[in-house]
Amino acid sequence: MEWRVPLFDPDIDEPEIQAVTAVLRSKWLTMGDRTTEFEARFAELCGVRHAIAVNSCTAALHIALVSAGVRPGDEVIVPALTFVATANAARYCAARPVFADVASYDEWNVSRETIEPLLTSKTRAMVVMHYAGYPCRMREITALAKEHGLAVVEDAAHAPGGKLEDRSMGAWGDAGCFSFFSNKNMTTAEGGMLTTNQDAVAERARRLRSHGMTTLTLDRHKGLAFSYDVVDLGYNYRMTELNATLGLCQLQRLEAGNRARAERVRWYRERLSSIDGLAVPFTTPAGQPTHHIMPVLLPKDVDRTEVMRAMRYEAIQTSIHYRPVDTFTAFAESDVKTRRNLERTHDIGKRALTLPLYPSITAAQVDAVCDALARALRNARRSN
Ligand SMILES: *Cc1c(COP(=O)(O)O)cnc(C)c1O
Repeated sequence: MEWRVPLFDPDIDEPEIQAVTAVLRSKWLTMGDRTTEFEARFAELCGVRHAIAVNSCTAALHIALVSAGVRPGDEVIVPALTFVATANAARYCAARPVFADVASYDEWNVSRETIEPLLTSKTRAMVVMHYAGYPCRMREITALAKEHGLAVVEDAAHAPGGKLEDRSMGAWGDAGCFSFFSNKNMTTAEGGMLTTNQDAVAERARRLRSHGMTTLTLDRHKGLAFSYDVVDLGYNYRMTELNATLGLCQLQRLEAGNRARAERVRWYRERLSSIDGLAVPFTTPAGQPTHHIMPVLLPKDVDRTEVMRAMRYEAIQTSIHYRPVDTFTAFAESDVKTRRNLERTHDIGKRALTLPLYPSITAAQVDAVCDALARALRNARRSN
């Protein structure tokens, strides 16, 4: 259908199309100089020693956990209010995801308080996710991890270009994992990046990205190496030159895009504050959030599906971030014992609604969304 206001609107411009075409003409199509350049620029953005380009954030999460020492039978603390990939990464390692609740109805991130009661002798690592690009309380979380000798991986899929204090999200833990999927703050169509300050993590992650091999095709091509060994159970998680070129272009627009998002979130917060019973989380966020999505918390007494249907009728696209991961069929057998601790997440999972947000959404469109939402809530309440 033709949306009046879509949920997001990927921003691809003519120079990017030219740049990708030029790569095709060059005939070096994967893991070449463009990828190396993209890694260097991204490491610079995050202020980290290493950035390793991969073909998705999911791949980054997987090799981050392996590189951080997660082994079969371990437990990995993960948020329940996240995309399923965060928890799947633990399962790829034959580790068990243990789901943590959000800090509060206002702060939809895990915290020291929600993680600490879940620690056991089997816990090896924790994955935290900066929901919508609002920073988790990384000082407390990394302190807790240090006390217990645990690894911290940041799912920073929502958070490229954002900071907490003077440090980038993705630069606080042992590794940070970014997504460049089509609807993220910057895109390479599909793609991801692993960031780390630890040389050992970087070295292992680089090997795991490409079959556990000790040399790169590019090095052999340049005559820098003539053979290779395979020293690890690796994967093919490599990024192509087409994706890397897109990433380099998008990186130049990231800061302006994030700034535009922040301004639009301010418009939303102002307009939504007059809607009775509606809450907007992260009222006083720390640091510099990246405003990946625009979540709201609907009042308890309304039927969310009715609200979404009414918005759709006005050609306004909405979504849900997220159905709690522990409630999916594929997770039915995982970790029943922590369910009682997920009260807030489960309630938020029923009442969360995501409104359209992207750098080019206009004030008139934001007004239209807020008016439609106010109308939908009035009608949903009346029909109760
Ligand atoms: C998008 C997303 C991912 C997965 O990213 P891919 O690049 O599609 O693998 C992981 N975690 C979160 C929170 C995401 O939003």
